[in-house]
Amino acid sequence: MGGNATNQEGPDGGGEPQALGKCTECGSTYPVQHEDGGLRPIGVTGTCECGNDEFEPVSDT
Ligand SMILES: [Zn+2]
Repeated sequence: MGGNATNQEGPDGGGEPQALGKCTECGSTYPVQHEDGGLRPIGVTGTCECGNDEFEPVSDT
């Protein structure tokens, strides 16, 4: 672990966004990648700003 969470956009943030995920705790949405066992937010250290690390898919209607 380690590193600062920044809002920088760039190709080195962990991968291309594939979907939107919503924090199951506070409802914040992040671009996410699908990983084994769930979703991983891109551009942050792996957890929501609230500290939760569980996300659910958001349907883009
Ligand atoms: Zn949250």
